[in-house]
Amino acid sequence: MENLKDLILQVTFILFPIYLYQAIWLNRPTPTIPKPNLFLIYLLCSLSAVLCMIFPIYVIDGLPYGLHYIPYLAAVLYGGPMTGISVTCTALLYRLYSGGDVIWISLIITPLFLIVPLMLQSKWNDFTIQTKLLLGFLFSGIKTSLTYLILTILIFFKLIPFSLAESLLEMFLSFLLFTFVLLMTIYCVNSTKENAFLRARLIKSEKLSIVSELAASVAHEVRNPLTVVRGFIQLIGTDRKNMDPKNEEYITLVLSELDRAQEIITDYLNLAKQQYFEKNKLSLSNLLDEVVKIMTSYANFKNVHFKNSIAPDLYVHGDSSRLKQVFLNLLKNAVEAVSESDGEVKITAYSSHDYIRIKIKDNGVGMTPEQLARIGEPYFTLKERGTGLGLTVTFSIVEQHEGTLRYKSEPGSGTSATVSLPIYKPAESPLPSSSKHQGEFSDHKLKP
Ligand code: ADP
Ligand code: MG
Repeated sequence: MENLKDLILQVTFILFPIYLYQAIWLNRPTPTIPKPNLFLIYLLCSLSAVLCMIFPIYVIDGLPYGLHYIPYLAAVLYGGPMTGISVTCTALLYRLYSGGDVIWISLIITPLFLIVPLMLQSKWNDFTIQTKLLLGFLFSGIKTSLTYLILTILIFFKLIPFSLAESLLEMFLSFLLFTFVLLMTIYCVNSTKENAFLRARLIKSEKLSIVSELAASVAHEVRNPLTVVRGFIQLIGTDRKNMDPKNEEYITLVLSELDRAQEIITDYLNLAKQQYFEKNKLSLSNLLDEVVKIMTSYANFKNVHFKNSIAPDLYVHGDSSRLKQVFLNLLKNAVEAVSESDGEVKITAYSSHDYIRIKIKDNGVGMTPEQLARIGEPYFTLKERGTGLGLTVTFSIVEQHEGTLRYKSEPGSGTSATVSLPIYKPAESPLPSSSKHQGEFSDHKLKP
């Protein structure tokens, strides 16, 4: 019973500092994870180690057994070599101060056990939790066997005045105890760090959504006066007979700039509207025909030909206005990428297995692998007058429909964008996972 009380006390000495560290340091509301506070780690680990020494679990022939190696280890792995060594020195100084017959054993054994954690320290944060737990288990095994080996040798050569009374069972129990508390420590530190990471991400995304909502509300307010201005400029433009040709040119210029401002505002508003989806059964074939019709005048204006082969009766479960936006964005990019003399954009739509594939292929400027890798990133644009938001929105809408958007491109010879969307199923059973089809393409799979 006494031992159990001591054991609970030691576990508390080791685990409580982790939560103390979280409360004091990690819980501050910052958008990035706070850097490790080495002084606090040193302070808490030293305190934990010394308390473990003051209240040992049991005494084997006068040898106090404790879990003070765990704070040493934690300090090395999470605070770095200097913090780890400082904690160990502080604890050993306490041991010297408190006295006892076998201090020199601690002085020899302790540095030996620090070798492995010191070697692992630089890579520790890259390991997965499973690897960390496995390493903790292995370390515990090595530590227990080495301790008993050294003790046996010392006793054999009568270097310490004890008899080897410890049974194998005792050794096994101490191994279990050490492993259990060490793994618990690793797990708790990991989950504490994960919480801090999630918290930081939440704060960051909250900030971003406030900014995007602000941008959207400003954009919304600006759109109305712009429409009024456009209307009046158009009115002025109708009386072209009595107009100075220079003014006529200016009016055309003002109108095109106003259109451009409208486009930018639309992009921003679309970015902010991402949360609201209204999905229904919808005919993708009709939707694509409609989009192609809308874009044909723009394509004619740019002297670009559309070639389409859209299979009938393609149905998906989706939000029609959002999906329209996807194909408008893709077609617009394709038209903008081709040259005006022999520009051609092919639109193909067909069903394949559980998916509908819509391929938009152009013979335009194409993209280098570096550019391809950045596609869909917010604000990434190579156009003088682009916003770089079109594809950010497009990727996000496709993802919301459990679909994928993949690009293939070569500089000089063109680009093809393929959207895959799950086919509509009447009962709307859980949609097939989009990742299932990832292996089918050898090209880039890109997400914003
Ligand atoms: P924007 O059109 O405003 O520049 P997008 O997000 O729509 O923004 O596109 C980002 C960038 O990706 C474009 O600036 C362009 O350089 C590149 N891009 C997109 N589609 C194509 C394409 N079909 N061919 C070549 N480049 C493309
Ligand atoms: Mg675009």
